[in-house]
Amino acid sequence: MIKVTVIQTGTVQIKSAQVTGKPGRSALGRKIDIFKDPVWLPPLPITAFLIEHPEGLFLIDTGDTAQNSTPGYLPRWHPFFRYEVSVNVAPDEEIGVQLDRLGIDSKKDLKAVVLTHMHHDHAGGLHHFPHNRIMVPRENWRFADGFKGKLAACLPQRWPVWLKPELFDVKGPAVGPFTSSFPLTSDKRVFLVPTPGHIPGHVSVIVRGDDMTYLIAADATYKEDNIRNELVDGITADPALSLRTLQALKKFASSQPTIVLPSHDPDGATRLMNRRTFL
Ligand SMILES: [Zn+2]
Repeated sequence: MIKVTVIQTGTVQIKSAQVTGKPGRSALGRKIDIFKDPVWLPPLPITAFLIEHPEGLFLIDTGDTAQNSTPGYLPRWHPFFRYEVSVNVAPDEEIGVQLDRLGIDSKKDLKAVVLTHMHHDHAGGLHHFPHNRIMVPRENWRFADGFKGKLAACLPQRWPVWLKPELFDVKGPAVGPFTSSFPLTSDKRVFLVPTPGHIPGHVSVIVRGDDMTYLIAADATYKEDNIRNELVDGITADPALSLRTLQALKKFASSQPTIVLPSHDPDGATRLMNRRTFL
């Protein structure tokens, strides 16, 4: 039996212009629009995903850490962290506590912790997994682990000192509209696909369940409707590339019954519970 569970690790408040950018706007223009936007959205979930598969449990992303809710902890030199985002994670909302509550012993029970990308709200819970196999897309790791990463809302200076992830390249066969893939399980029912744009090297996860497919889009989009309407987010490093990614996600989700699960979509958990597919 294959099962996908949403685990919410607190919330994040961002602006409307971050979730949806203006079509045709450049990467820089979109960021200026975020700073000018007076509209703060209601708090959005910060989500990690647990995949149960006969080969074991896979945790996709680790959410954020309560420390990032502490005023002054996020780097104040960075205008985005200073003005454009508000993280709200209580200590007992962190991923380690939540897995405990589900009766999961991370050290023994998790086959791997897989990061879709190294943004603070996906890598923030890594300190809970010092004994686990941690997998990160090589392209994203190389980008995140340096000054460019710091500018792009990654926090390499906060990563656990022991962190030495297993880096992988998404170089397996094409799947539908995706140019390549990387299998997580030997039966290839759980695999990663490249969904760049939001940040270089970003990946999404596809899970072929028994009666439908799950598409863990992560941050390739902030909400399902933006895939449907092909609307690129405001934070993208490359709007044209993000648009191609959205079009691939749309084509895939339209080709078979698929539940689409972005990391910050307020309706994602409900869609999963009600088994509501993209079409
Ligand atoms: Zn992100």
